[in-house]
Amino acid sequence: MSDQFSHWSEAAEGQTPPRCSACRKPVRKAQAAFEGLFPGREAQPPWNAKWDGICEACGYRYEVTSRQIIIGKSERKMAARPASRSYKDADYAVILAGIELEIDDAPSSATNSIPGTVTKIFISRQELQALSSGLNNESSILLQQYDWDEDGH
Ligand SMILES: [Zn+2]
Repeated sequence: MSDQFSHWSEAAEGQTPPRCSACRKPVRKAQAAFEGLFPGREAQPPWNAKWDGICEACGYRYEVTSRQIIIGKSERKMAARPASRSYKDADYAVILAGIELEIDDAPSSATNSIPGTVTKIFISRQELQALSSGLNNESSILLQQYDWDEDGH
């Protein structure tokens, strides 16, 4: 189990929201993270439970976005936002924290024959850490790849 985990049967973990990089106040109001979110359940949700990724003090939106013009009016847009996913069995549930990665691959040109697609995928915090450290270390060759073009006729 991950080191950043709040068990319902042990001392609560992760109850203190981090400070906002924009306003320096906690990104969630006191107690808001864990009061009344799971009525009737034995749970100790951490500060990020059911957080929408927006600082409750100043409204700063925590997301990573990218917009890339491909050709003509065709573009790809990427957004990564805080997210969680619940895994349940008969009497137990675990909620993984992470991000939702949304790729909007939307050719907007009438001449483009490729239909647009929006893909959403959940990436757990552990997977996000592996991806981040992998891209910054031995796998950095992945970022040395080139795009290329070809004659469309
Ligand atoms: Zn803020």
